[in-house]
Amino acid sequence: MRFSVTLRLGPVSLLQRAWYWRTRQPVPRAVTPLPTASEAVRLLPQRWAGIHKKHATRHRYYWAPCPLCGDHYGGHQAAGSVPDPLSGPGTSMSVIICPRCTRAGRSVNIPYGELPDHRP
Ligand SMILES: [Zn+2]
Repeated sequence: MRFSVTLRLGPVSLLQRAWYWRTRQPVPRAVTPLPTASEAVRLLPQRWAGIHKKHATRHRYYWAPCPLCGDHYGGHQAAGSVPDPLSGPGTSMSVIICPRCTRAGRSVNIPYGELPDHRP
């Protein structure tokens, strides 16, 4: 079974730059645009979980526990990622972690040249 995904990328807005700075991630050259409200709300402190949960529910983002710390966060707050422990080593599968864990440096970035090649 084959899947295809197309992402429309755009320039990085000031709110998006603030998000990457806040989560201590490198600012990419281009990003998938989010609604401006989501870009603004995700900059609110994570401890304001009620606002984040309401925003996630209203805009159909997920609301789920972080796989590392167990704190709930919304899909609009998706930040860093870590290798998916269920997929095993050598795969490029990853799971998203919360902004707090990302800011704490718990995210794992695999350099592009070290990603496994899954082409047939
Ligand atoms: Zn976390």
